[in-house]
Amino acid sequence: MNTPHLTMKSSITQGLTAEVIVDITNAEVDKVFHYLLPDQHNIPENLRDSISPGFRCIVPFGNRHIDGCIVGFSEPTVDPSKLKKIISFYEDYPIITPHLLELAKWMKTKYYTTLAACLRSIAPSWTGAKRNKKILYAQLIEGKENTDEYIETTKKNGTQAQVLKALAKHGGEPIPIATLAATLSISASPIRTLEKKGLVTIAERLSINKPIATITYNTDNKKESVTLTEEQLNVLHTLSNSPRGKTWLLHGVTGSGKTEVYMRLIEKAITEGKQAIMLVPEIALTPQAVDSFKRRFGTGVAVTHSRLTPLERMEQWNAARSGEISIMIGPRSAVFAPFPTLGVIIVDEEHEKTYTSETTPKYSSSTVAEKLGELTGAVVVLGSATPDIITYFRAQKGEIGLLTMEKRVNNRFPQVHVADLRTELAEGNRTIFSKVLQFEMERNVKLGHQTILFMNRRGHSTFVSCRACGYVCKCGSCSVNFTYHTQTSSMLCHYCGARERPPTDCPQCSSRHVRYFGVGTQKIEEEVTHLFPGTSVARMDMDTTSTKSGHEKIIRRFAEGKAQILVGTQMIAKGLDFPNVSLVGIIDADVALNMGDYRSAETAFQLITQVSGRAGRASLPGKVIIQTYMPHHYSIEYSKDNNYAGFYSHEIISRQTMGYPPFGHIFMVMMTCEDEKKLISVQKELAHIMRMYNRKGFFDILGPSPAIVSKVNNLYRWKILVKTMSTDVPEDLIIKFVFYCVDKLKAGQIRLDGININLTLDPKSLL
Ligand code: ADP
Ligand code: ZN
Ligand code: ZN
Repeated sequence: MNTPHLTMKSSITQGLTAEVIVDITNAEVDKVFHYLLPDQHNIPENLRDSISPGFRCIVPFGNRHIDGCIVGFSEPTVDPSKLKKIISFYEDYPIITPHLLELAKWMKTKYYTTLAACLRSIAPSWTGAKRNKKILYAQLIEGKENTDEYIETTKKNGTQAQVLKALAKHGGEPIPIATLAATLSISASPIRTLEKKGLVTIAERLSINKPIATITYNTDNKKESVTLTEEQLNVLHTLSNSPRGKTWLLHGVTGSGKTEVYMRLIEKAITEGKQAIMLVPEIALTPQAVDSFKRRFGTGVAVTHSRLTPLERMEQWNAARSGEISIMIGPRSAVFAPFPTLGVIIVDEEHEKTYTSETTPKYSSSTVAEKLGELTGAVVVLGSATPDIITYFRAQKGEIGLLTMEKRVNNRFPQVHVADLRTELAEGNRTIFSKVLQFEMERNVKLGHQTILFMNRRGHSTFVSCRACGYVCKCGSCSVNFTYHTQTSSMLCHYCGARERPPTDCPQCSSRHVRYFGVGTQKIEEEVTHLFPGTSVARMDMDTTSTKSGHEKIIRRFAEGKAQILVGTQMIAKGLDFPNVSLVGIIDADVALNMGDYRSAETAFQLITQVSGRAGRASLPGKVIIQTYMPHHYSIEYSKDNNYAGFYSHEIISRQTMGYPPFGHIFMVMMTCEDEKKLISVQKELAHIMRMYNRKGFFDILGPSPAIVSKVNNLYRWKILVKTMSTDVPEDLIIKFVFYCVDKLKAGQIRLDGININLTLDPKSLL
């Protein structure tokens, strides 16, 4: 895609005007405005010859000055004397590359939104960047790298020695003081003291290298250059010879060595002078993968994440654009890194929901990656042990390539046992753990191996209820049960965060029989501590990771063997690699299955398989115990046998029968409002309009009906589902239909103030 590079001179002589998108989200101004180019002296000298599409500028708009982006040049269609002039250009601020500009235009249509909104999600905000302060970094003074000597200096002071060790381990690279202090659990003062002693420098610094996992994890002494397995070699061979711009699904079982494949592929791209993007679901949850990239590729890697300041974000953008860095690792927005010659895009754990943006434009990073591959010629790899059903369907049809790795690197799958909780109950076991899990845990503790226990609910007890009358305590602002948390002795709403003391007397019948039921991670931690006194237990869920480096601390504690048992929610399902973990217990596999969503079976299969995949990854043989009341559910049976293909064949038939994606489209129109009556009447009106315009019967209009969680934060939630009736109805037809009807609603009699409308095509969940 070649956007002509236009120099100022030619544009002036040719009398072209600049087409500008103004930075306003409002759909009404989603059009191109024409401006004259500014006078020569208003353009920074170094930019004069290079103004091209993608440049940011300031333009007069109405009676104010606003930011804009040049998207093209054209012949004036009106008398040029009637046009206003661009006021000035941003010099340092993110310039959109031609490919990304092209991508933005495609996103605008694909995700039915405005170009300004697309540009805003692509490029970092540049208004915030101007105000931000720089960050303080600590670094060992150069030429004094002999750390033994350093440590000998500071031997008497433990924390100072720790700081020096950490800095030395980081290869003498600067580390932000805050990160250093947080990782070592110390204050900044020992770092300051070392500065005074002349061992360390502290300086304000803009760094493109923003590691979350600054200090490497001592899991084992992995050799940096491993001999590839046959499967790894085959996959690499195919990918290295891939046609330009092609997308591949890499379906590789857990522990098959996908990360190593990614790294080799990226290595090759870099030797060819190209750059790479590596998407991960969430940086904080995948510190080990990030770590191995940093170890292998050093300062050429930039890590992006949500905690970067606007200024840091902009620095990264510019570093990528200039080719100063060659690998960008990060969550979904990292796909927009403006590399000049992109060679590879990896989407690791492609099935993860976090790749879909929840705000407009609701883009999916893997879909965007695929388009970007097409535009730039980069090879796109979607990797997963449990691919999204839709991705696998596309690979089966040959729309994208399919690569498979069926063996684990250690050639050994964990042994999986399903514990039927119905039998346990019948035999009088009322504890959280089945007999077999308890036995295996005991054995593991004795052997000094590590155990992971997975429970997809946090808190202590999942509901508080009266035994006499059945009353259940609910959040007043949301339609969900309160969860009991022992640490604070309070009931917490997991939707709005409201906190209340549990009642001693039942609010309904005044009996004193208020009890706590259901199990969450906190309760499990408590039980484990009780069962195995003296064994160190770590817990990883939303409650224990709310602090800045909460995740890293827990993962490191476990990685270093300081905790023997790790209890956690789905946070522990993603790509963690601990060689000493030989047992995984899934406390209640049914939680995911009971979600009441058309994707529940898929989500449950993915979660169970991924969590099971944490066991026996190195030399120790692995064991997995799945506890369930539904031992014969196909999600459980297929994940037990590590049989993705079997699960897929089963699931795809039920999708087809129901007309769910990939065999049709679903459009969800969710509305929220404080006034439920009004909300219902608006939804009814929209459903009425939809039925009226559905003359050809292309669509099935379901609802209105309340969302499963029908109230959050005092906002009621109702939805209408529009489903295509056949596989031949194209995506843009259903989009157009819904938008047409919503426009009719907006133009009609009913006032829509106080109503929020949320439109999603093929939502990942209908809850
Ligand atoms: P996946 O991402 O497929 O679950 P990983 O890439 O995390 O698997 O690899 C699993 C483990 O095997 C890691 O500890 C990794 O370092 C190691 N590994 C990968 N490839 C090889 C190889 N060819 N030889 C030896 N060990 C390997
Ligand atoms: Zn009661
Ligand atoms: Zn609430």
